[in-house]
Amino acid sequence: MSSDCLFCRIVAGELPSSQVYADDSVFAIRDISPQAPTHILLLARKHVASPADLTKADHDLMGKIFAVGAEVAKREGIAEDGYRLVVNVGRNGGQTVDHLHVHMLGGRRMAWPPG
Ligand code: 5GP
Ligand code: ZN
Repeated sequence: MSSDCLFCRIVAGELPSSQVYADDSVFAIRDISPQAPTHILLLARKHVASPADLTKADHDLMGKIFAVGAEVAKREGIAEDGYRLVVNVGRNGGQTVDHLHVHMLGGRRMAWPPG
């Protein structure tokens, strides 16, 4: 855990969040500034700054996050209509929190290409 990382502090319970799922490697919360009727952040429990920092030891982690996402989407009632998974990487990608997370956006039709 990184004590100056917002999402590490949320995962550790030091800061409040609207938690929707937790297990030993993945933690899911509602985004504080939702961009769709359903906007959930799928967080790695361990601190990895971004997908660009994944190592061999993390190979199972992204698969796990996506599998949890599929489960959470069913629970949230957005699985049938579909949803979007987004990972912003670095400045040009629009990343603002340097802790691995996947956005799950649903409940409305998404535009393509993204802005
Ligand atoms: P990024 O910009 O790094 O792809 O995504 C970071 C996301 O974290 C943003 O969508 C932002 O709204 C969300 N966020 C920032 N601070 C908090 C917070 O304190 N709690 C929660 N639940 N979400 C946050
Ligand atoms: Zn962190």
